[in-house]
Amino acid sequence: MANRHLFAWQRSLSIALVLAVLGFVAGFGWRVDHSTNQKTVLPVSTGMQQDKAGLETSKAKAIKVQQDAAHQKAIAKLAQEEKVKRLNAAIPVQFQGKTIREVKLKGKDNSNTQVRQTKAIAPPKLIALTFDDGPWPQMTSKVLDILKKQNVKATFFVVGKQVEKHPHLVKQTVAEGHAIGNHSWSHQYHHYSPSAAAHELDKTAALVHKLTGVKTSLFRPPAGILNNGLVASAHQKKYAVVMWSVDSKDWRSGRTTKQALVDNSLKEANSGGIVLLHDGGGDRSETIEALPQLITQLKKHGYTFVTVPELLEKGVSF
Ligand SMILES: [Zn+2]
Repeated sequence: MANRHLFAWQRSLSIALVLAVLGFVAGFGWRVDHSTNQKTVLPVSTGMQQDKAGLETSKAKAIKVQQDAAHQKAIAKLAQEEKVKRLNAAIPVQFQGKTIREVKLKGKDNSNTQVRQTKAIAPPKLIALTFDDGPWPQMTSKVLDILKKQNVKATFFVVGKQVEKHPHLVKQTVAEGHAIGNHSWSHQYHHYSPSAAAHELDKTAALVHKLTGVKTSLFRPPAGILNNGLVASAHQKKYAVVMWSVDSKDWRSGRTTKQALVDNSLKEANSGGIVLLHDGGGDRSETIEALPQLITQLKKHGYTFVTVPELLEKGVSF
């Protein structure tokens, strides 16, 4: 009985000693300098080098994790800035203030089929997908998901009042590397006075710039109307007015089919071409249904997808 008591007493003393040592190490053995952001560990000799080394390692690891996170954040910020810078690059002077339906590419003689058929020297076939009338809830994010999955960059001609309603969608569009074009503020077809036309363009451009940092130099008139004052204003402001050479006819919403959209687009597809599609203005489920097949088919036909600014960069004329 006495022995057992003695043993219990000894055990309590051992535990107390261990706790005291740990308390010393935790409380006094280390001092952390909080005066700088970079936490500096000041070692104090405790004679317990091994524990100290362990703590040092975990502190160092924590600092490294912090530094890595900061590094990753800085890289992401630079990448985003680079993306915006690229999207903000001025369009080539030959396209400023002009109306474009398609682009003749550098190093390519469009009229010479023999050159086109000689695979070894054929330049890449480039095509630009464009989406009008967004951002639109449900529709735009589905289009973005398909493009991401297919690794395709496109151009979105946005309507200012829609951007105001769904700012996150235009931010997401830019964050995912797509180009933005101006499609007026209110998407109406009537005649505009010069000041009303300028307002339609400027208000949209200012909001897109405020939300995304992108200054767009591309304009597409609603319904492709060239003579109601909007295009005149866009030309004056040195926008490239971007029409299309490939009409998917998805604007016949409810009166067309997925297959018809694919067929219409493939029939008219050309290198340097611009494809008209819609991600907004109503239910675009036919476009969304047709898009994966359209992209796959165009890839099969040897097309590389570019944004409109990229297409203009590679173009000599229109
Ligand atoms: Zn439109």
